[in-house]
Amino acid sequence: REYDRLIRDYAALNRELEELKDEPAETLDGHRVSLYANIGLLNDIAFAHMHGAQGVGLYRTEIPFLTHRDFPSEEEQYSLYKRVVEGMAGKPVTIRTLDIGADKYPSYIRSASVEPNPVLGWRSIRISLEVEEVFKTQLRAVLRVGDLGRVRLLIPMVSSLEEILKVKELLAEAKEELGREGTPFDRQMELGVMVEVPSAVQLADRFLREVDFLSIGTNDLIQYILAVDRSNRRVASLYEPLHPAVLAALQQTIDAGKREGKRVALCGEMAGDPLCALLLLGMGLEEFSMGSLYVPAIKKTIRSITYQVAKAAAQIVLEMDTVGEIKKYLFDQMRELEMLELLEMYH
Ligand code: PEP
Ligand code: MG
Repeated sequence: REYDRLIRDYAALNRELEELKDEPAETLDGHRVSLYANIGLLNDIAFAHMHGAQGVGLYRTEIPFLTHRDFPSEEEQYSLYKRVVEGMAGKPVTIRTLDIGADKYPSYIRSASVEPNPVLGWRSIRISLEVEEVFKTQLRAVLRVGDLGRVRLLIPMVSSLEEILKVKELLAEAKEELGREGTPFDRQMELGVMVEVPSAVQLADRFLREVDFLSIGTNDLIQYILAVDRSNRRVASLYEPLHPAVLAALQQTIDAGKREGKRVALCGEMAGDPLCALLLLGMGLEEFSMGSLYVPAIKKTIRSITYQVAKAAAQIVLEMDTVGEIKKYLFDQMRELEMLELLEMYH
């Protein structure tokens, strides 16, 4: 009976949330933010539309690299990305370059030796910058689909300015080649990097002078700030998005964006949790990207509060010392907003 009740409540809540599909993600006092979808498969596009996402904030391109026997060719990548961009029908699509390694190596790119600390090892942009031709092939495919819609390029796991400069050098080469061949591509494509490593938080201002936007990947950032492996059950209880050190890093990154007048998005799981979203809104975050399923709940959260109240709440939370205090305070806020029902889906 309890499960039947939960199913009924959940269906009723979803019906209510569905009605928000075409409404803006706007606070009661008129402050608007953007809600984007994280996708990985073509099927995800239908869900992004169904739940009212304003675009794709994170397209994880690993899947074809993991399922093929070899690196997918430029044409294979181009035709796949084309389906995504066309499927999103004019809405922006943020394509992230290859983020393999650590938990997901394709069989043809096994690291020569077993790494003692794969999460701190050969992964993501570090691999791409070593296999330059493979990386450039992906850059070319992304640049080309930019001619078909609003595409943004996103680079994962960046930890130094040198990496950004190297990416820009390869990007310039790819553009030069395409131009020479007379192949259409987007010359003005926005370039962004993910903030997933503490060094990227420290250098956020400097990164922003080289790129157009930042996207905070809290899934990784939390594990690197707290030294807690995100895939290790033994320490799962220590993996805490609301840890004061994590929140300070997020605020620092958001503030850097405001100072530089550039966009800062957040695309980790945290963006889809109403308790965290309330806080992120108050911290000044303007772009949230999440599994499409969560978009309606986050929209409802944002539409239930004023920006003034969210800002005041964030200021109080940022002064707090412990996760316990922070969680209790945010739960109380949600209760006052009569949003506890929404949290049942998550906590
Ligand atoms: C992240 O780290 O927050 C992120 C969005 O990337 P992924 O989960 O693919 O590592
Ligand atoms: Mg990541």
